[in-house]
Amino acid sequence: MKVYNTLTRRKEEFVPIEEGKVRMYVCGPTVYNLIHIGNARPMIIFDTVRRYFEYKGYEVNYVSNFTDVDDKIIRKAIEEGISSEEVSTRYIEECRKDMKGMNVRAATTHPQATLEIDGMIEMIQTLIDKGYAYVAQDGTVYFRVKRFSGYGKLSHKNLDDLQSGFRSLQVSGEEQKEDPLDFVLWKPKKEGEPYWESPWCQGRPGWHIECSVMSRKYLGEQIDIHAGGEDLIFPHHENEIAQSEACNGKEFARYWMHNAFLNIDNHKMSKSLGNFRTVREISEQYDLQVLRFFMLNAHYRSPLNFSAELMEASKNALGRIVECEERLTDRAGTGGALTEEEGRLLKEAEGYTCAFEKAMDDDFNTADALAAVFDLVRFSNSHVNETSSAAFAGALSGQLLKLCDVLGLQIQPAKEILDQEIEALIEERQAARKARDFARADEIRDELQKKGIYLKDTREGVKWQRI
Ligand code: AMP
Ligand code: ZN
Repeated sequence: MKVYNTLTRRKEEFVPIEEGKVRMYVCGPTVYNLIHIGNARPMIIFDTVRRYFEYKGYEVNYVSNFTDVDDKIIRKAIEEGISSEEVSTRYIEECRKDMKGMNVRAATTHPQATLEIDGMIEMIQTLIDKGYAYVAQDGTVYFRVKRFSGYGKLSHKNLDDLQSGFRSLQVSGEEQKEDPLDFVLWKPKKEGEPYWESPWCQGRPGWHIECSVMSRKYLGEQIDIHAGGEDLIFPHHENEIAQSEACNGKEFARYWMHNAFLNIDNHKMSKSLGNFRTVREISEQYDLQVLRFFMLNAHYRSPLNFSAELMEASKNALGRIVECEERLTDRAGTGGALTEEEGRLLKEAEGYTCAFEKAMDDDFNTADALAAVFDLVRFSNSHVNETSSAAFAGALSGQLLKLCDVLGLQIQPAKEILDQEIEALIEERQAARKARDFARADEIRDELQKKGIYLKDTREGVKWQRI
């Protein structure tokens, strides 16, 4: 399996630290607003990466944080006259709803920065003790960039170039830094901001230290994959490497994966530019599986431009897979054993799974993997007809469902119908019958049957059963 590594700028063979296991960390959103579809891109991509590793038999420990202390959260809290915690709690909840809609599985652990402050203080102290960090007069703690020899290795930046860039950008209040390149590990509180006690001042952590600490706590000092959007390469991930490697004395992550940006009208989509569309808005117009399909139909390292046309095309394409699956399921319910010819055809169809795996093994080329899925759809459409056996249709349906599941595409009705909803529909059916509206009564029975609910009219009333 090959993975493109930002660190080496090459596709490399994936070799896990521990056999059969993958430890991966994905930088999560800052929770001060509903997530936008740009934020959804890394969620969908790395959820798919996780699913594929699991399909290949790996056990994946997947950690993704919520950044719940940040200037933007504080600003929002002040605007609304509520606490930062209320803001972050609200948007973590909303984010989880959107993730569910996109069929992005919950991480093994979703740590929150504000619950990990002790670990941050401890790591900062170690960095000070080892000479990698220093405390300025006002209690700010800075990382001493020049002390870490590997600085710039991820972003392939040269320290001299960085330095000249920084000199012109220097902002007031930073004169206390030993060097313009140094970055904040801990900063003093400002009036009205949330703060924690620390040996240096009452304050809060810098953003970068959060991920170094949470990654170490939940995955250990060395991890296989660290991932996020490409805007995080510098300075966020570069700084995480400096902190973690200086503190632990070990290589931090083996593979660094970064998704390209989702653009809108060929401009980067971002909260600060105000040109974003939230996942929630999209969900009012489309099933979020369409959004997932749209993201997977491009390579994750290529920029992707959001447009209404591409969303419509994705909706239609996904519809073709769903239709095929429905046909196969209908056929699979009718009985019949596999014929010799069908056995031969199934062998042939296995080729599509091989093509799918080949694409995914090549740095998760989901666009080519989807092409293999469509080949299977075409194959099924041309070979399954009224004379096909149920075993044949069932095997193709199983193959299609499995591949779609690796991509996280739900092509079968996902929502399980609740007992109360069933009871309510049965009541409605009884009322329709009473009113001699047999068409509606039959419609309800069929609707339930599609969801695997079978009705039986008995002397004691209507009984139902899940099949
Ligand atoms: P943020 O909430 O800005 O910290 O972003 C959370 C995640 O979304 C990070 O991995 C970002 O790199 C990623 N991200 C933000 N905007 C976009 C975008 N327009 N396209 C792709 N990824 C993005
Ligand atoms: Zn991070």
